[in-house]
Amino acid sequence: MRKKYLLVFILSLVSIRQFAQHPFKHWTDAIETRYDDKQPIINYTLIIDSTDTSFLTVEMSIRNIPDTFHVAMAAHPEYDDRYWRYVQDFKVTTKKGSGEIFREDSALWKIIAGGNDVVLHYRIHFPDLHDEFRSAWKAFLSPQGGLVGGPHSFMYVVGATLEPSYVTLDIPGSWQVATGLTQTSGPKTFFAASTNLLIDDPIFVGKFKSWSFNIDRVPHRIVYWSSQNEKEFDTVRLLSGIRKIAEEASLLFGRFPYRDFTFMLQDGALGSLEHNNSVTIGAPISQLTDNMDETFSEIAHEYFHTWNLMRIRPIEYADVNYKTPPWSKELWFSEGLTMFYADLLLRRAGMRTFDSTRIVHLEHLIRRYLYSPAYLKYSAEKISLASYAPPGMLGDYSASTHLQGEVLGVILDLIIRDATNGKKSMDDVMRKMLANFSGENGFVSKDVKETVQSVCGCDVDQFFINYVFGNKQIDFNKYLRLAGLQMTVALKDVLSADGKLAPDLRIYSWQKLNEDFVRIGITNPESCWGKAGLHTGDIIKSVNGVPLRTRNDFRQAIRGITVGDSVALQIQKSSGIAKINIVTSGYQQPEVHIQHLANATQKQEKIFTRWNDNGAVSNREP
Ligand SMILES: [Zn+2]
Repeated sequence: MRKKYLLVFILSLVSIRQFAQHPFKHWTDAIETRYDDKQPIINYTLIIDSTDTSFLTVEMSIRNIPDTFHVAMAAHPEYDDRYWRYVQDFKVTTKKGSGEIFREDSALWKIIAGGNDVVLHYRIHFPDLHDEFRSAWKAFLSPQGGLVGGPHSFMYVVGATLEPSYVTLDIPGSWQVATGLTQTSGPKTFFAASTNLLIDDPIFVGKFKSWSFNIDRVPHRIVYWSSQNEKEFDTVRLLSGIRKIAEEASLLFGRFPYRDFTFMLQDGALGSLEHNNSVTIGAPISQLTDNMDETFSEIAHEYFHTWNLMRIRPIEYADVNYKTPPWSKELWFSEGLTMFYADLLLRRAGMRTFDSTRIVHLEHLIRRYLYSPAYLKYSAEKISLASYAPPGMLGDYSASTHLQGEVLGVILDLIIRDATNGKKSMDDVMRKMLANFSGENGFVSKDVKETVQSVCGCDVDQFFINYVFGNKQIDFNKYLRLAGLQMTVALKDVLSADGKLAPDLRIYSWQKLNEDFVRIGITNPESCWGKAGLHTGDIIKSVNGVPLRTRNDFRQAIRGITVGDSVALQIQKSSGIAKINIVTSGYQQPEVHIQHLANATQKQEKIFTRWNDNGAVSNREP
């Protein structure tokens, strides 16, 4: 998942996210029916009625099933959209008649059917999207098509997640299908080798533009879906850009880890999500016409997750479960190194990047890193854990595991290059991680450390103690020196577009599910809001006498505040209402400049040259 949009999501969907992770505290644990001798045979039919796309009908036919069994809807480790809320008309039938359904928990049902052959029948009634945008991974339907399957559509048999299944689509005749599920001889029937694959691979249906290309005989397909009359965009450029990204990834890892790959681009949606052999990418038509570079950057990120996250998998992301898995401590690697390589793949492919050079990119990374005190307060593992946690886990701080992980990746890369005299790089670490940790073995941070050490032949124990398991201040110049570089930092006032001091608005609002009051989020305790004694989670009743009910009220209340304005807040404390007056100040942020050392050695210069030449030391040189 791409953090850039995640911030938008956190700010806008935090009320949903808040309890998405642990909707119920007392899950029953031991309901694992064992299916050792008689494996259930599972066939799904997804039925779409194009005259009424407010719902999707699912028929789940199961053979070889005991009289009593459980079905559930899976929780995605990062984005549990809880579509169990939209299950309607749930019925079970057998040859003898109907069975009984008991809802044992929100996403878990016990079925007593008393027959070898059972058909479950339910509808997913899609929620009305009041948000101004749709998340690209969320199931939806429209008269022109939509996205179905995944955790939003399928129930699975609990305890039988290694069983394969077939999915048949009953859709309008003019609609096409794009999915990572395996095509069978039937044009609208697909195979999933396990529940994990069934749940992971969304199914895109409707009328869309479609292109394909092969690299090393591996087919890649791009589809673009739009509900409107599409404006024209440069499809040749889109195709060639995606192809170049795929070629660079294949050069890095040596081969593709999939049989085929589908890039699913959608108009009218934002955000993106990685899957086993596909990506869902929100690509508004305006972005494709005006800023295709942004789409490429997003595709490069999600596509790299095909390796780093989907296969090089954090230990916590295990088999399908209806309970949300534990938060992961390794996202600094899974997301951070994906940020690192998304930038690098584009550079290696000769495509445009947001920052002109690697040095400029590094200046921006370090500037953002130094801007937040969170990285001195919390370890990389702790910030990883907080990535999908409700606001407040980091107290009055906010941090990005994507940023922190990319910074650590850059430094580890320099350490490896120095220790091996330029012969090895992070590329070698990624290949080794893939070899050792795909399949059943999830990794932990210690495994990254040991892999780095085996590549560089050097000791990075203290580095991991300091920055991955600990929260020490990074001495950037110590590591930049390895490539003959050094940096200077200056604190500068942040200015508005008109050149005046910008007000310190390092504050946000959020709501818990089912709460009708607004809470404050503080991103830096040194902001004027933090210094005034506000804390993340405080309930705010009014601003300048205007009562607050929604987050939009809060946005309106602080809109237009300028430096020197006085803001009167009423805060709900357990002891009663507290009044806090704040005078809004300006604020500063660091500016980072990286320069070449005047007296760099030959080795430092050589390492810089190779690093700057897009880092391609291992795979790309004769
Ligand atoms: Zn990501």
